[in-house]
Amino acid sequence: MIEPLDSYRIGCPNGHQVSVPHRLVGEELICPSCNTRFEADANASVEMQEARLDQAARQWLIVALAAVIVVVTAALVTVLIGLLT
Ligand SMILES: [Zn+2]
Repeated sequence: MIEPLDSYRIGCPNGHQVSVPHRLVGEELICPSCNTRFEADANASVEMQEARLDQAARQWLIVALAAVIVVVTAALVTVLIGLLT
């Protein structure tokens, strides 16, 4: 679950990073650097992208751990079969 934040860093169409208070997310804003109008989309914010990366990293960690467990179990089974035969 991604927690709501007090403010988001959202890029304007020209690549300037604008700090947007939570209450203005979803509104049309004007970039203070280039005066371009853009919609403050929280999903496009640096924070949301970082949260998604964290989530993806955690999922990969779980997949990697599961793979290690499968490999170790298979090796143990092979050794046991070798000992029993
Ligand atoms: Zn801008």
